[in-house]
Amino acid sequence: MTTGELITLSEKNIMGTYKRFPVVLVKGSGARVWDSDGKEYLDFVAGIAVCSLGHSHPKVVEALKRQVEILTHVSNLYYIEPQIHFAGMLVEHSFADKVFFCNSGAEANEAAIKLARRYAYENMGGHKYELITMKDSFHGRTLATITATGQEKLQIGFAPLPEGFRYVPFNDVTALENAITDKTCGVLLEPIQGEGGIKIPDGDYLTKVRQICDDRGILLILDEVQVGMGRTGKLFAHEHYGIKPDIMTLAKAMGNGFPVGAMLATDRVAAAFIPGTHASTFGGNPLAMAASLATMDVLIHHGILDHCTKMGTYFLNKLEKLKRRYPVIREVRGKGLIIGMELTEDGGSIVRKCMDRGLLINCTGGYVLRFVPPLIITRPDVDAAVDILDEVMGSQ
Ligand SMILES: *Cc1c(COP(=O)(O)O)cnc(C)c1O
Repeated sequence: MTTGELITLSEKNIMGTYKRFPVVLVKGSGARVWDSDGKEYLDFVAGIAVCSLGHSHPKVVEALKRQVEILTHVSNLYYIEPQIHFAGMLVEHSFADKVFFCNSGAEANEAAIKLARRYAYENMGGHKYELITMKDSFHGRTLATITATGQEKLQIGFAPLPEGFRYVPFNDVTALENAITDKTCGVLLEPIQGEGGIKIPDGDYLTKVRQICDDRGILLILDEVQVGMGRTGKLFAHEHYGIKPDIMTLAKAMGNGFPVGAMLATDRVAAAFIPGTHASTFGGNPLAMAASLATMDVLIHHGILDHCTKMGTYFLNKLEKLKRRYPVIREVRGKGLIIGMELTEDGGSIVRKCMDRGLLINCTGGYVLRFVPPLIITRPDVDAAVDILDEVMGSQ
């Protein structure tokens, strides 16, 4: 089939939830992907912060091949060997004592919301169920997670939404303090807002949020679905800020492209989940666990985090230089390899022109270009991407 025929067939049979670029990506390797016409792209989207080790990383491919021949799926009615090993690795390298596995970021946040409510029900009395979340946040597309998401445009037409969510602006300590009532059981936020335009927390914001949660006896839940698993140069973004959450959610990069999610918590909080309170058929499935185990092993033992930090600094500096030359760039900000370039105008045409020249990037909230390349990118990759951006911005 030609590319045009594939696209027509896609539009015919697949629900129209996505506004797609008119390309079919058919192959990937490292930081590169190819479309159905054989055109090569440098991939600074990486499946939206998913393929952190690059496409088809040999260790992940090998782990999946090995596992698919041994055991593809059983149920959580039984103990699952790769699940046991991967949970052990997550617990060893995080604040958490216990893990619940699921299949996506939204599901991980659903699990976190349920755990927070159940913990409050068991320990604070049934009247505390409210979560405070942030404006411009993003937590997923299920009913509870669009409600947790502080963006009205994602909620329109889906009423009635579940009760029990209140919103405050990110980076506003006073608004948070004022929003807490005797119904509040926790605060849910992304340590760095991803979809909201790569918003970085002010110096001591997260420390203060932690302090407020401790003082008021409520839970701190961090959504690290986008920034966790090495994206910022540390395994988890909150490590930059010297705090620990009570609950944390992960997904995107965890399986380097194999769908998987997790919700982690301390023993104290996790104790509220007993048999029958929550479950997932596919959660912690052998294939997902094999992919995640291989991914995390490479992340930790192959110097990826340090490399990410170095490449992040190198990339950010080059973007700062571009900023001095193009007034359309309002600000460049980021941590490790999640970098946003805020523009004074809509970024759509820059994204399309970059794509024509073989660079994939995307735009969040209309005017923030988002760069989330694989963490294994090299200096020449960064140079090539910045050259293309330079050329595109010069021609605007
Ligand atoms: C992508 C994302 C989600 C949703 O993850 P899905 O796997 O698409 O359900 C939730 N929270 C954050 C911060 C995300 O970036």
